[in-house]
Amino acid sequence: MYGVVTGEVDEFGQPDEDSVIVALAGDPLYVGVKLLDQEYKLADVRLLAPVLPRSKVVGIGRNYAAHAAEMGTDVPDEPLMFLKPNTSVVGPGDPIYYPAQSCEVHFEGELAVVIGRICRDVPAELATDVIYGYTIANDVTARDLQRGDGQFTRAKGFDSFCPLGPWIETDLDPQTFADGVRIQTHLNGDLKQDGSTSDLIFDIPMLIAYVSSVMTLLPGDVILTGTPSGVGPMEVGDEVEISIAGLGTLTNTVTSRN
Ligand code: MG
Repeated sequence: MYGVVTGEVDEFGQPDEDSVIVALAGDPLYVGVKLLDQEYKLADVRLLAPVLPRSKVVGIGRNYAAHAAEMGTDVPDEPLMFLKPNTSVVGPGDPIYYPAQSCEVHFEGELAVVIGRICRDVPAELATDVIYGYTIANDVTARDLQRGDGQFTRAKGFDSFCPLGPWIETDLDPQTFADGVRIQTHLNGDLKQDGSTSDLIFDIPMLIAYVSSVMTLLPGDVILTGTPSGVGPMEVGDEVEISIAGLGTLTNTVTSRN
């Protein structure tokens, strides 16, 4: 079921212990919703991915200069676009499965934009009209396969390689991200990534304009805006937490498939 999280939140958008979810009938992106007379304590429910894209997750590579530098590459002249299959999406708390084909699986903490309407050729100045909201993503990447393959489909396409959540924030002013929102990744409690969305090379309106000039975007499609510097490997048993101010924290644990 869908629901609306209500309650007070801290500076990272993490709700307090008394928060509840009011259940919704329907689907916010396709058929509309109706508030139900049902409430659940947040602590008592298992959150699923807040959106399962019907068609695509669009990734953007090297969109922070410091990350491009740590990868030994230049900042691209145009957004570097790739796709992750919707079967890679999992929710908060779900395992990230370490694939047998890789020995180097990296976390990439990212701001994710959820598209709210069917659209193409969206001018940048109208881009916020097609945004449903924002959530957190981990663009999990098998770095060794990415290097070896020379393209990204296998390296970024494994099942469970796109954790999304914990929910979609629908009330944020898009200017907030241009002004700078802190994005942090902790691995087993150690701070690994500490960036700001003000350092995005191509901002969100430009990304929507660019992507929609190539392909029609559908409600529920997700655009991953790129990762700040500090990416690194995860091992089986590791817990990875990505926090974005105002959006909360997305936590997943790396697990062996067998
Ligand atoms: Mg990425």
